[in-house]
Amino acid sequence: MTIRDKILIIEDEPTIANFMRAILEARDYEVMIVQSGAMASTLIASHCPDLIILDLGLPDMDGMQLLKAVRQWSKVPVVVVSARSHERDKVAALDAGADDYLTKPFSVDELLARLRVTQRRLALIKADTAKETPIFTNGALKIDYAAGCAYL
Ligand code: CA
Repeated sequence: MTIRDKILIIEDEPTIANFMRAILEARDYEVMIVQSGAMASTLIASHCPDLIILDLGLPDMDGMQLLKAVRQWSKVPVVVVSARSHERDKVAALDAGADDYLTKPFSVDELLARLRVTQRRLALIKADTAKETPIFTNGALKIDYAAGCAYL
């Protein structure tokens, strides 16, 4: 059995979200899409995605706000995909904890390459933290301290 990487796409434009979903599912990722920041917060906590693709212009909040909130408790890799191309927006997102920043419009190859880079980095972090913070298991309960997630 292979466990597929779960990617959460937070994007309110269905065309872009569905386009990314098609690309990622073809590469065997498990894809979830949400269109608002509030829905994203709930889903991140309950589903523990392996990677998040975040649009900054969301209907109910600024993606930056969501990014900062998630970084309070999670190290999940976040790749920002935004139409905001100004340097100060990129710097602010990276400083707030984004792992990468992709400007719309982007090419499929660039998106996939950025995701691969982010995942390689994550694999290294996971290997490191596995040494330091072991995963706690008790019966069916499993707590992954590094990811900030509990599984049953
Ligand atoms: Ca948007």
